[in-house]
Amino acid sequence: MELTNIGTIKRLFEQNGFSFSRSLGQNFLINPSVCPNIAEQGGCGAGICALEIGTGVGVLTRELAARCDKVVAVEIDERLKPILAETLADLDNVEVIFADVMQTDLAAVIAERFGGADTVVCANLPYYITSPVIMKVLEDRLPIKAMTVMVQREAAERICAKPGTRQCGAITYAVNYYSTPKTLFRVNRGSFMPSPNVDSAVIRLDIKSEPPLSDTEEKTLFRVIRAGFSQRRKQLVNPLSAELRLSKTEIAALLDSVGLKPGVRAEELTLEDYINITKKLP
Ligand code: SAM
Repeated sequence: MELTNIGTIKRLFEQNGFSFSRSLGQNFLINPSVCPNIAEQGGCGAGICALEIGTGVGVLTRELAARCDKVVAVEIDERLKPILAETLADLDNVEVIFADVMQTDLAAVIAERFGGADTVVCANLPYYITSPVIMKVLEDRLPIKAMTVMVQREAAERICAKPGTRQCGAITYAVNYYSTPKTLFRVNRGSFMPSPNVDSAVIRLDIKSEPPLSDTEEKTLFRVIRAGFSQRRKQLVNPLSAELRLSKTEIAALLDSVGLKPGVRAEELTLEDYINITKKLP
């Protein structure tokens, strides 16, 4: 069954009374080259297990299953159950968990289902929760090698921007703290059904084995970054003074102690600058 074929998708929908849910970010892939590319470039292969988020009709799920030892997919929409029962029927290495990924203990899923095997996360993410899903996977410190996901092109540009440049945002630093991000390839809006209003890109985050700070310091780091980007065009002393309840003079001295000018703005700092500031805080 060719799951990128529009006729096949329409037949599956009609037979099962299914219609797209815009609020669940259901834009299904109909470009046949995209899913094999995600699976190949996402690190799938013999000895590897894959966790997928959002199956749709199972188009990426099948590509992951063809290459990996085992695939577990988390899908929120139970209306897809009868469709997936048909489209994945011939595969014995796939399990679909019907649940909200944001409410799912992914570490437990990986431990129980994959038992210590090397694991990758691959997904065409629902756009309404792109950043929360990426941050959940990273902050939960899941034991994975890489996360390869389709996101809106603007989100890809922000996530993969070089820290310290105008394109970056708070998420750039968070992602760089836990991983090394890279844009793999672009995907135009016509590759989806229904077609979204924006183009997309597939990015891969290679997970760092040891993030550089302790859990407590990490919380402070993200507090500092979030505060800075809450007023990204203003001088960093202002939001930091408010967030850390220190005077502007004290913040200026803190910045000076890590080699930064008092007039510096949030987006001008490197990740190392933020880490250095965090280490100086009580
Ligand atoms: N993988 C399929 C593809 O590429 O055609 C579907 C991708 S579609 C962009 C996103 C999928 O995520 C949909 O199947 C949607 O129902 C599912 N989804 C949306 N919100 C979710 C959530 N909170 N937890 C799990 N799955 C979710």
